[in-house]
Amino acid sequence: MLSPRQQHCLKGIGIRQWLGRPASSTAPEAADAIEIIEAPSKEIIQQAMPAVPDVPAVPDVPAAPPPKLDTWDNIIDSINHCEACELSQNCTQKVPGVGSAQAEVMIIGEGPGHEEDLKGEPFVGRSGQLLDKMLLAIGLSRSQVFITNIVKCRPPNNRDPHANEVKACQPFLQAQIKQIAPRVILSAGRISAHHLLNSTSPVGKLLDQIHQLPDSNIPVKVTYHPAYLLRNPSAKSIAWRDMKILHQMLRNPE
Ligand code: URA
Repeated sequence: MLSPRQQHCLKGIGIRQWLGRPASSTAPEAADAIEIIEAPSKEIIQQAMPAVPDVPAVPDVPAAPPPKLDTWDNIIDSINHCEACELSQNCTQKVPGVGSAQAEVMIIGEGPGHEEDLKGEPFVGRSGQLLDKMLLAIGLSRSQVFITNIVKCRPPNNRDPHANEVKACQPFLQAQIKQIAPRVILSAGRISAHHLLNSTSPVGKLLDQIHQLPDSNIPVKVTYHPAYLLRNPSAKSIAWRDMKILHQMLRNPE
């Protein structure tokens, strides 16, 4: 037996309740038990039908969880597993950086070249050998500093990294800087200086003063990229002056 409310609902959507047949007739099939009286109005259907909730769109590819960058190991692991931009598809391996995670100096170049891509270590080609000599001249070895790049994958044909590639890699560099908390950053070359300082000034201008990393109190010394020095040996005297300034900055805390 239906309740008055159920009877009302059935009537509202145009369904008449089967009230039974005389005792002599046989029991009705379920389908016979209801009978459409007339097509219900749109308003009545809207009142009687429960609203269908909006089904959220299912993304084609599940979104990758944001990488965990809270420890040094997590940072390196996240770099090694990163697929955030196209560079990751074409490089041999990631080049997270080399040196000490407690270094006082961080040296930041542009991006791995051919040899760095093969070896998985930054600045190992000819420009890297020159960088080693520049560091040694002020008493620093590779293991005492931390050397890395703006992007951790090799841009094809040594082209400049694109803005979206730099952006995709930025959280890794930021996390590395945060973990190391260096006393000084040495920014090698145009790409590094422009992205670190959010500037478009020529390197020749940027190396005239000590800058500050935006949103931090870390001083940034800009210098020529070693590859530029190999092509323009006359600029080595300026690079040497820059190394002496770096040395001085490390000796004098303020
Ligand atoms: N040039 C860079 O900027 N980085 C390297 O690692 C090698 C060459």
